[in-house]
Amino acid sequence: MASEKHDGQNQDTVQTMPPVRRFRETAEGFRWEDVPLKEYKPVGTHFQDITRQVLFGEDESLPTQLRYFEIGEGGHSTFERHQHVHAVLILRGRGRALVGETLHDLAPFDLVHVPPMTWHQFRADDNAPLGFLCLVACDRDRPQRPTDDEAAALRALPGVKDFIRL
Ligand code: MN
Repeated sequence: MASEKHDGQNQDTVQTMPPVRRFRETAEGFRWEDVPLKEYKPVGTHFQDITRQVLFGEDESLPTQLRYFEIGEGGHSTFERHQHVHAVLILRGRGRALVGETLHDLAPFDLVHVPPMTWHQFRADDNAPLGFLCLVACDRDRPQRPTDDEAAALRALPGVKDFIRL
């Protein structure tokens, strides 16, 4: 059995990949064969109703992770920023994302790019989940959350005040 690492961000079990893992759409959401369904983050109260599946993990020749996140109806990811970049492909449902100072409606197959040190948050609509692939580097910095002053400045932006969940 592969061992778990406990070094913060990259805690996912690395297993030898079969050539194909089959996809299933279940009543609880999108699943891939033998891919464990995990909590979005191990601890915290600044997010709501998200699951995480690591589809591709660490491979020395491809040092990235491809994760599938699914946010339940009305749920949201952490409001954060960091040096590392996210490449996101929406696969399921409806929602919105704040990237920098702009809100965007999201639907399946939309692509979202989160540049370095850019505030971002994803929210599912109240009547639909939001499922998306997110590509990140294995070697990545820890997310930052806004200070009180930064949060106040963000809340002054049109439309953002009612969107962000801290
Ligand atoms: Mn992020």
